[in-house]
This record gives sequence, structure tokens and C-alpha cells, in this order.
Amino acid sequence: MIDIHTHLHPPKLFAAIRRWFAERTSWDLSGHPTEPADVAEVLRTAGVERFVFFSYAHKPGMARELNAWLAAASESLGGFGVPLGTVHLDDPAYLEDLRLALDAGCIGIKLHEDVQRLAIDDARFDPIYRELAARGAILLAHVGPIPWAYPPDAGAARVRRVLERHPDLNLVVAHFGTPDTERYFTLMDDHPNLYLDTTMAFALDSPVARIPEIGADHIEAHADRVVYGTDFPNIPYPYQREREGLERLGLSERARHAIFHANAARLIARATGAEASPVDASNA
Ligand SMILES: [Zn+2]
Repeated sequence: MIDIHTHLHPPKLFAAIRRWFAERTSWDLSGHPTEPADVAEVLRTAGVERFVFFSYAHKPGMARELNAWLAAASESLGGFGVPLGTVHLDDPAYLEDLRLALDAGCIGIKLHEDVQRLAIDDARFDPIYRELAARGAILLAHVGPIPWAYPPDAGAARVRRVLERHPDLNLVVAHFGTPDTERYFTLMDDHPNLYLDTTMAFALDSPVARIPEIGADHIEAHADRVVYGTDFPNIPYPYQREREGLERLGLSERARHAIFHANAARLIARATGAEASPVDASNA
């Protein structure tokens, strides 16, 4: 398995995030570790062969340092975990921050509309998206506020605007695109680089599970654009719950392989330059 959506943060930031969850939610996260090596060990034991992790700059002035920490954490894990960096639009040199992050080993960025108080279709992101697309890097985005109480289709409309401007951008929408999953499935027909991650949408104990609403046949039909993710270690249930929820759908072996492994492997290979570009292939 490859897990495309996990979190590692520097210790002080992680403590603040845990406090936020304790004060604002009824989620009990105390059973899950926060130290990178300990988080990695839980994933390895669960059968994960590689994981993508990230943090986020919730205010200006912290992205560059955070990206350096993320790259160092990946190195300390021997590349078992690969990072997505972060940028903040109120930083004066956010494009330079991105380039430094990608050069240091980040394979894209994580964007969180709510935590970062910004919209994915903000025009100031255009140079960021051009750079990501040119490098085959990943944009993984949490679209919409927490909790997901907002006008349906608004988030998907913002994502559509981004994809129309940047059709080559590898874009993963977190949490199965909740609450606009059907809209994203439709968008996929016109946008071959659009993906949804499964994060918290299938876990049996998840406070935001979507299993009853989305038919397995629908997921099967879009399996080449669905990637396994979990939000570990910030989940109020055991790690394996997301996988168990997905397994209960009774998907075909082909779909399971795509969701748990092949789609993420393809995205990571593109972002790390391990995949031959179409130009290379035609020259070969
Ligand atoms: Zn997350």
C-alpha cells in the first residue's frame, strides 16, 4: 500500500494541532504517535510501503522553515515517507519558497483552504500551479471549510476553474471531495489529472464516513483516479479502519490495486522524475 495523505509536523506545531483537536472536537487522538519515526513504524507495520506526509503554513513567515523541516524528516526516514511542502500567499517570495521546497525533496504542496484561509482558485496561485505542472509535482488540496457545512458545488467549481487554467496539474482533492464527490467524478471525464483521495471517507468509525452514499460501482468506474489516504495520525480510530472500510466495498482486484498502490505510485514517479516523459518515450 501507498498512503498519500498523512501528517508530520514539527513538535511545537504538532502539540498546537493536538490542542486544537482537543478543544474543538470530541476526537481522541491520544493513542496515535506524533514523532516521525513512530508514525512511520505504525504505517510500516500496517503494510504501507511508502507514504506521503505534510504540514501547512497557517500564517505568513513560516513556510520556508517548515519545508526545510519536512525535507529533513523525509531524509531521517530514509525516503520511506515523502513530503509535500507548503506555501503561504502572504509571503513575499512564495514562488521561491516553492522552488526551494521542490529542490529539497518535496514532491508538491499541500493546500488547506480552511486552515490557511485561502481559496484554491486564487489567481496568486497561478505561478505556483505552473511550476508544479512543469515539474510533474502534486497539488493535494483540502477544499472547503471544516466541518463540511457549505454550499454544495462551490468547492468543485473552484477546482474546475483551476483545472481549466492548468490542465497539466496533478491535482488530488482530499477527503473524497466531500460533499461534491459526484461533481468531481463528472469533472474527471474532462480532466485526466484530477484525483480524489479516500481520506476519512471510508473508515468505519469515521465521523465523516461516506460509505452509504457512494456506490461501489461508481468507485469501481473511477478507480484509476482514486488514491488511498488516511490522515494518520490525526484520526480518532485505529489506522486500519480506512482500509477495512474500502475492502468492504468488494471492489475488483484491478480497482484495489489502482487505489491502494498504482495510482499513487504513478503520481510519485511523475513528481520525482522517475517516470519517463512522453517526449523521452517517443525518442526511445
Ligand atoms: Zn489531512
